[in-house]
Amino acid sequence: KAKNSGLEKVVFFDEDMFTQAKQRFVLEQELTKAVKQQQLSLVFQPIYCLKTEQVSGFEALLRWNHPEHGPISPGDFIPIAEETGLILSLGDWVVSQACQILERLWKSQTLVEMPRININVSAKQFESNHIINTLRETLSQCHFPAHLLGVEITESMLLSDSSCTLNALEEIKALGAIIYLDDFGTGYSSLSMLSEYPVDIVKMDHSFIRNIDQQGHKSAQLCRAIIHMSHAISLNVVAEGVETQSQLEVLDNYGCNYIQGFLKAKPVSREEMTHYLRYKCELTSE
Ligand code: C2E
Ligand code: MG
Ligand code: MG
Ligand code: MG
Repeated sequence: KAKNSGLEKVVFFDEDMFTQAKQRFVLEQELTKAVKQQQLSLVFQPIYCLKTEQVSGFEALLRWNHPEHGPISPGDFIPIAEETGLILSLGDWVVSQACQILERLWKSQTLVEMPRININVSAKQFESNHIINTLRETLSQCHFPAHLLGVEITESMLLSDSSCTLNALEEIKALGAIIYLDDFGTGYSSLSMLSEYPVDIVKMDHSFIRNIDQQGHKSAQLCRAIIHMSHAISLNVVAEGVETQSQLEVLDNYGCNYIQGFLKAKPVSREEMTHYLRYKCELTSE
């Protein structure tokens, strides 16, 4: 009997699946190594305020520089990190990096205005209060105001276990960090979620932005509606993936508050971040 079921498995497990599973297994092992060997790094994409025309913050994005395969995109390795649980240590590392940068900038007292740094957080990191504990511990050891840290969550998180999520988000708010609802409009979001959960800022997904500069395109109306609706409940809006000047102009007309995208800047290294910051007096080149 056991033999039979074993044979069945072999039959169902065709070659493609085998290659895929093997690749995945290899990737899993390599990711474990990557975390230990520091092959992962963060890049930072500026977020522009349309009103002040200044960079008001950055989104921290993970990068994996594989020694043989070159750069691997977060879209490919974050899901594996989530399934294997590696996302917990990875996520903690992201928190510590972001807070370390904020702490240094705050202590240096050289900036006209402090930027905010946003981190992305997966649903898995909310399980057993993991991310909450990390944030509480890290923020208590740091000396900058907690509102300089942004926490980006996605709509799917709000759907998973609403009472737990609500508690967790309220804890983050109590710590003083700012909550962003990422990729807004792509999931099964309902407008009521925006008022039920303690979200501070909406990040409108780039899929709404792509065609807004085309005459009579429906996405322009949707985009405007999202901005107006958010403003109606006192939430500011960041437009993601802004690539052209005409998209910027439409968004500006609609009263969008912030933009992020290749038009203004691609994600940059930690060193390059300084080019986007305004210093109290001119710094001599380092
Ligand atoms: P996201 O949080 O929605 O991040 C925005 C993504 O859009 C980034 O992709 C960014 O590089 C890309 N982007 C920015 N401007 C433009 C533009 O003008 N045009 C286009 N086409 N794309 C633009 P990236 O860096 O590949 O990250 C993909 C996703 O991976 C992120 O989406 C986020 O969900 C996830 N991710 C990245 N870092 C982390 C992390 O530290 N933790 C977790 N849990 N997830 C992360
Ligand atoms: Mg994000
Ligand atoms: Mg996003
Ligand atoms: Mg997005």
